[in-house]
Parts: sequence; C-alpha cells; structure tokens
Amino acid sequence: MKTRKKLIAVLKSLNYYLVFFLLIAFVITCCLTLFVTLLSQSLNIDFTEAQISTAAKATFINVVFISAMATVLDGLRRHFFINRPVQKITEAAEKITKGDFSVRIDPVYVGANDAHLNKIIDCFNKMAQELSGTETLRTDFIANVSHELKTPLAVMKNYGTLLQQPDLPEEKRMEYAKAVCESSRKQASLITNILKLNKLENQRLFPVAERYELSEQLRKCLLGYEYVWEQKNIDISADIAEDVFVRADSELLSLVWNNLLSNAFKFTPEGGSVALSLKSDEKYITVSISDTGCGIPPEVGKHIFEKFYQGDTSHSAQGNGLGLALVKRVVDIMKGSISVESEVGKGSTFTVRLSREDV
Ligand code: ADP
Repeated sequence: MKTRKKLIAVLKSLNYYLVFFLLIAFVITCCLTLFVTLLSQSLNIDFTEAQISTAAKATFINVVFISAMATVLDGLRRHFFINRPVQKITEAAEKITKGDFSVRIDPVYVGANDAHLNKIIDCFNKMAQELSGTETLRTDFIANVSHELKTPLAVMKNYGTLLQQPDLPEEKRMEYAKAVCESSRKQASLITNILKLNKLENQRLFPVAERYELSEQLRKCLLGYEYVWEQKNIDISADIAEDVFVRADSELLSLVWNNLLSNAFKFTPEGGSVALSLKSDEKYITVSISDTGCGIPPEVGKHIFEKFYQGDTSHSAQGNGLGLALVKRVVDIMKGSISVESEVGKGSTFTVRLSREDV
C-alpha cells in the first residue's frame, strides 16, 4: 500500500516535470520560429530543403537539451527551496498530531521564499509551544488535584481508624471527630473551588447581572471576618465610599472580596492591621485590600494567580492555592484588572479595578 502511494507520488511529480519540459520546449520553439521567419524575411534569403532539414535537426536537439537543462535546474530549485522546507513542516506537524509537542522547526534560508516560509515556521513553533504549555498545565492540574484530594482522605482514614478504638476517652474521641470534620470541610471546599474554576474557565457559568450596592456588600464581607480579627487582635480600617452601585453578579464578586480578605487575615500576624477601601469616580470603581502580613517576594508574585500555586507553605493547610486563580478569572470575566503591590516583611495591597462601563 505504501509503495503504491509512493509510486503514485513519483508519477505525479514526473508528470509535473514533463509538463514543464514541454512548456519550455514550446516557448523556445515559438521564439526560434519567429526569429528565423523575421530574419529570413528581412534578409530575403531562400533556404534550400537540405539547409532547412539540417537546421531543423540541430534546432530540435538544442531545444530538447535546453529544455531538459531548464527542467533539471527547476527541479533542483523546487527540491531544495520548496519541497525540503515543506517536508520539514509536514514531518513536524505529523509529530504534533501524535502528541509530541516538543518539536520545533529551525528557520530556513531559501532566498526569495524566506520571509513567507519563516513566517509559517514561526507561527508553527508558537503553536507547538502553546500546545506543550497547555499539555503541561493539564497534566500538572491532574497531578495537583489527585494530590490535594488524597491528602484529606488519608487524614480522614487515619482518624476514622483511631475512632474505632474501644474505650477511647471522650476528649480524644472529640478531637478525632473534629479532625475528620475539618478534613471533610477542606475536601468539600477544594471540590467546590475546582468545579467553580472549571465552570468559569469553560464559560459554563453565566454571570447573573443585577444592580446592587457594592459598599454594602464589602461591609458585609468584612464583618464576616470579625471572629478572626478579634481572635488575632488585628486592627481594622475601612474607608468605604457610600452609595456605590454596580451591575454585576453579586455572588461572583463576593467570591473575589472573600478570597482577598481571607488571604489578608490569614497572612497577617497577631497585632497587625488590615485595611479595606472602596473608591469610585466617573470611570472606575477601585477596591483595595491591604495588610501588614508577611508580604510576597517578587519570584512568588509572578505565580500567585496560577492554579494550585502556594507561595507561603506555612499556611498551606488553610488553603489550596485556588483562591487567587478564581479571583483572577472572575475579574477577567468582569473585564476588570487586579494588581498587587507587596514588600516582604511589610505587607501587601491587592487592588481590583472595575470599569464603570462594564459594571
Ligand atoms: P492559598 O491562599 O490557598 O494558598 P491563593 O491562591 O489564595 O492560595 O494564594 C496563592 C499564594 O499567594 C499564597 O500561597 C501566598 O503565597 C500568596 N498570597 C496571597 N495573598 C497573600 C497575602 N495577602 N499576603 C502574602 N501572601 C499572599
């Protein structure tokens, strides 16, 4: 089957060369006929039959030779300057279809076609890079999800086994039962976050826009952390502009404020402070959440919006690295922006800016 295909391909390329050869031969013959006719007319020469026959034979041989040379030269040009680079691209594309996204093509230097071919090659390399990035994200995501799901399950299993001990003191029984509850809560929150993120990323979660008072929502969200700031003796300052209304999905936006606030309280040590501000002008609504926590080093800052990324492992048990990924996705959907300013040891400020036109 393969040899038959190859044979057909060879015959097809021979067909091309034959057509090219005949075309060149036809053009040369026409030119020569015209030239000889015009020359004999202007010089008024009458050729004998023998002379015509000898000249015709010599001309025929020359036409065949020149056409054959032109065909060979064109064949070489096509082979090196077109077929080879195209074959390289085809082979690389075949590798991609088989799942090898590491393939890249070197630029080619083939004279006049350079620019076009190299543009195709450049686009191809970018596509391969994108695909390999997506593939890495996919495999990392699966590995991360499996790991994150297994950890609380293992904890539940261990404490479940301990709970089965006979004559367990009441105090221990409560302790183990609490640990099981905490682990199941963590797992439920992880699954909820994964599902939400998945829905947001696949555009299956349709924001329900309603007009509501953002100032009120921010105040409520902040109050939800009263028990934390009292427990950690954190100083609170709120500078919330009154009567700021937005048209947005309140549930999605409350997810943003809650994630940013919970991080601010989580990373701020006892006796620190957290500030929340809401400002509004004709163009933008700006919400800032500042803390005097541990701060974010620049190399960590680059990754904080990635899924499952946890820069500060000392607090890893209290989160799953999905909070800021969710926040970023929601802010993107609202066509807003989020930025971070942070200094290690001094604290961080997360600023969300929403355009008045979009909310
Ligand atoms: P999680 O809080 O569950 O670890 P997030 O996605 O909310 O996940 O945050 C990712 C990382 O960003 C955190 O692990 C932490 O390193 C960093 N981070 C986020 N908010 C703050 C903050 N207010 N102060 C210091 N680091 C922060």
